[in-house]
Formats: sequence, C-alpha cells, structure tokens
Amino acid sequence: NIRNLNHYYGKGSLTKQVLFNVNLTINSGEVVIMTGPSGSGKTTLVSLIGGLRSVQEGSLQILDKELNRASEKQLVEVRRSIGYIFQAHNLLPFLTARQNVQMSLELHDHITPSQAIAKSIAMLKAVGLGERVNYYPSHLSGGQKQRVAIARALASHPKLVLADEPTAALDSKTGRDVINLMQYLAKKQGCTILLVTHDNRILDVADRVVHLEDGRLQSLKSLTKIPY
Ligand code: ATP
Repeated sequence: NIRNLNHYYGKGSLTKQVLFNVNLTINSGEVVIMTGPSGSGKTTLVSLIGGLRSVQEGSLQILDKELNRASEKQLVEVRRSIGYIFQAHNLLPFLTARQNVQMSLELHDHITPSQAIAKSIAMLKAVGLGERVNYYPSHLSGGQKQRVAIARALASHPKLVLADEPTAALDSKTGRDVINLMQYLAKKQGCTILLVTHDNRILDVADRVVHLEDGRLQSLKSLTKIPY
C-alpha cells in the first residue's frame, strides 16, 4: 500500500525529484506489471517497495509493515519475505546452480545445510533444471540462468516477488517461458508479484498494469487474463 510517495536524488540545488505523489495498492496474490520509459523511476519505486532504499516522503506499507517507521531489524525481516529477481540475475559465478539457490536459503532461513540442499534441488527441478544442478552459471544459457534466479527467489516461499526487467536479456520466446514459469510457481505458492518490464509481449500475465511516466503513476488498466 503506497500513499503520496515522493522521492528525490541529490542535495541542495542539485536535488531532482524522481517520484511524484505515487499511490498504489497491490492486493495479496495479485500480479501487477509496471511499465514506463527508461528513467521514469521504476527501479527507484521497486527498490523503495523492497526496503532497499529508505522512504523520504509519503507512506509505504509492505506486508503489513510501515516501512517509513521500520527499524533496521524490521526492514531485514521484510526483505526476507521478498523474493528479488533482476535483469542481471546476479548469480555468483563461482557457485553451481544448486549452491546459488542453497546459499540464499541458508542466508534467509534457519534450515540445516542438508535441508537447504534438498530444497535447492527440488526448486531447480521445478524450473526444469533438474539435470543442471551442478552446472556453473557460465555453462548455462541466459534463460537457464534466469530460471536459476527464479528458483533462488522462490525457494524460501516469499510473500512478495519483485522482478525488475527479468526478461530484458532474453529472446522473446525464452522471456515468455521464464515469465510463465515465474507466474505459475508464484501463484502455486500464493505470492504477490510486482513485475517491471518494457516488454509489451508479456503484459497479458498481469491482473493489472500500471504505467509510470516521469515519476508519476499514470494509468491503470485491467486486462483479461490468459490462463497459464
Ligand atoms: P530504467 O528503465 O532505465 O532502469 P527506471 O524507470 O528504472 O529506468 P530509475 O532507475 O528509477 O528509472 O531512475 C529514475 C531517475 O532517477 C533517472 O532520471 C535517473 O537518472 C535518476 N537516478 C536513479 N538512481 C539515481 C541515483 N542513485 N542518484 C541520482 N539519480 C538517480
């Protein structure tokens, strides 16, 4: 739930406002896509929602927590309930697919290493990479790396998934497959998705599309949903 959110970069005479009075409510279980031209403030908004940047003005309530008044400890808790998927999947190159998923589980959850290994393998199987669990990122295609990133983001059953341009580096068929898979798994786990994209071809996976233009949330439209 976002109310009257403003955000600025820079100080003094160099201050630049990048978000203007943004209001947005995302319901639990909803898939919301945010579009908008480069520089319109999408990444800034997503990082605020993800608790990765502090709120300057306005109110931001995520998963029943008021982020503007949250302590660092509460922020860490909120971040733990969120799965992040970014354009540059950010896999660690010196770890295998399984170790990448496993590491994030061990960082986030209090589970034993053997439970984390089992869970990582199960998640990689769920994204169709059961045969590739011991591959290093450099031996995986772009789509496969992004699927590892999805397995990693969803392994700890986050309540909210934030995905910033997850298909940007992929061809359209692979991008489509990756999005369908993410949506399918997230729905199965009952989590909410906020997906930022330039890619008009994937808008139909959304329950709702919002458009950010020059830091202003402009239009909201409902789409008829195409089932997976
Ligand atoms: P893109 O699609 O290209 O990633 P975006 O819509 O995500 O763009 P943001 O990255 O949120 O847009 O940037 C919004 C505006 O804020 C841009 O004008 C950008 O130059 C500026 N900006 C972003 N990060 C910073 C920063 N750390 N310091 C100063 N200005 C910034």
